[in-house]
Amino acid sequence: MQKGAIRVQTENIFPIIKKFLYSDHEIFIRELVSNAVDATQKLKTLARTGEFKEELGDIAIEVILDKENKTITISDRGIGMTAEEVDKYINQVAFSGAEEFLNKYKGQGENVNIIGHFGLGFYSSFMVSKQVDILTKSWKPGTQAVKWECDGSPEFTITDIEKPTRGTDIVMHINEESEEFLDDTRIGAILQKFCKFLPVPIKYNGSQINNPTPAWTKKPSELTAEDYQNFYKELYPFAEAPLFWIHLNVDFPFNLTGILYFPKISKTHEIQKDKINLYSNQVYVTDEVKDIVPEFLMLLHGVIDSPDIPLNVSRSYLQGDPNVRKINAHITKKVADKLDEMFRNDRPSFEEKWESIGLFVKYGMITDDKFLDKANKFHLMEDVDGGKFYTVEEYKAETAALQTNKEGKQVILYATAPVQQDSYIQAAKAKGFKIVKFETIIDAAFINTIETKWENVQFTRVDADIADHLIDTEDKKDSVLTADQEKSLTDLFGTQITQSNIKVTLQGLSADAQPVIVTRSEFMRRMKDMASVGGAAA
Ligand code: ADP
Ligand code: MG
Repeated sequence: MQKGAIRVQTENIFPIIKKFLYSDHEIFIRELVSNAVDATQKLKTLARTGEFKEELGDIAIEVILDKENKTITISDRGIGMTAEEVDKYINQVAFSGAEEFLNKYKGQGENVNIIGHFGLGFYSSFMVSKQVDILTKSWKPGTQAVKWECDGSPEFTITDIEKPTRGTDIVMHINEESEEFLDDTRIGAILQKFCKFLPVPIKYNGSQINNPTPAWTKKPSELTAEDYQNFYKELYPFAEAPLFWIHLNVDFPFNLTGILYFPKISKTHEIQKDKINLYSNQVYVTDEVKDIVPEFLMLLHGVIDSPDIPLNVSRSYLQGDPNVRKINAHITKKVADKLDEMFRNDRPSFEEKWESIGLFVKYGMITDDKFLDKANKFHLMEDVDGGKFYTVEEYKAETAALQTNKEGKQVILYATAPVQQDSYIQAAKAKGFKIVKFETIIDAAFINTIETKWENVQFTRVDADIADHLIDTEDKKDSVLTADQEKSLTDLFGTQITQSNIKVTLQGLSADAQPVIVTRSEFMRRMKDMASVGGAAA
């Protein structure tokens, strides 16, 4: 038996670990299963290089909950540790064996997938345990198996033991405050959350709970449309099929894989947010991907996996991280390219999906100028009668002759509520104008922002004026009334309408128009719309 003291600077690191390391105690499972995965991956590396010559055998990791003895055991068939290695890797808190292994084998050109580095790693077990035992036997032929025991004080013991199998069992004796973890469903749920896509088979209650080769880890050329759809179902069993997806696959200058799905969005369905999960080497990290994913794409679903995104750091740090900024820009570009490709290669299907796609595109155009530049090409406006879509260029080409105002700007006429605005629409159509639909919540904001970004375009709502005056052209029509008649008519309305904010003016009307039309200028209407939006938000 060997006795010794864990070598850390602070005499009592454990109270700190217990209380302050993570507010989220459940991550101890992530840490320990990650270590078991690493130990297994390391053994596979040694098998590839020929250092390990035996059969690997069943390498599944097992998670065992023992309610009676109040323990949780994580058992692997990985490389194990010799007594010296336990001393080196365990007794020195925060000495990462993962890093050491990586340095050695990466240098030999090996493609090694090691998780490592999630924080304090192994010692997170003490957040929930009054005692932790490590029973381990190294892969190295003829080494003695050992048991390391520590009750949460800086003292530990190491004893020789009999252990027939290669690998490591970590036995956590769960403390009283943490008995919530001695629950089947709870552990099952935590495993689902963090370990669902880990690269080594993981067994719990006799069945394998993970998919070791999720779609995003494969090459796009290996996957069919059905594979992508099936993976979507695996992520969101209850969701409607996605519209399309983008497979991210970069290894320089940063490492990023993942699949982003465009969900189907309809006016009546609630939009699900926070549906993108961030992974690091197939370990779940978080579903808060703000800053990593551009804001306008936060409604997408799917998975992003990047070991280059710093973990366990504050938001403000993440924002300034150069890799995070590059990843964000890369995702924006990929999405724009994909949309552009769909628009060019299959316009009918693009139009069919526009109701859903349009929301992202418009939001992106409002918030991201780089995206705007690309999206100008494929942004669509639907004709008020439905079924026909124009890009801005197409709309211009078809309407330039009639719908250019006296400043030379292209006037885009739009309706926000086609049924209510029908009489205006009919009148505008009679003039040969083309009216598009802008019906959704985002459209009001879109129009306001986009007008300042698009040169030579002016948006006018179809009921902003009577049809003759929707387009403010040089040649005003003469009134059919004499000046005297106009004055008496104006006075008559003036005496009847007493509200100070309504001004009466007469405009020449065509013979078939309705005798009286009340309109509000585009400017006044937008002022009111904006005020009510602000009011509703307050
Ligand atoms: P990291 O994973 O970042 O290296 P940890 O604190 O999680 O840090 O683990 C420290 C070291 O302990 C590991 O690098 C590894 O060498 C060793 N270790 C931990 N768990 C196991 C295990 N199940 N099998 C073999 N070695 C392990
Ligand atoms: Mg670790």
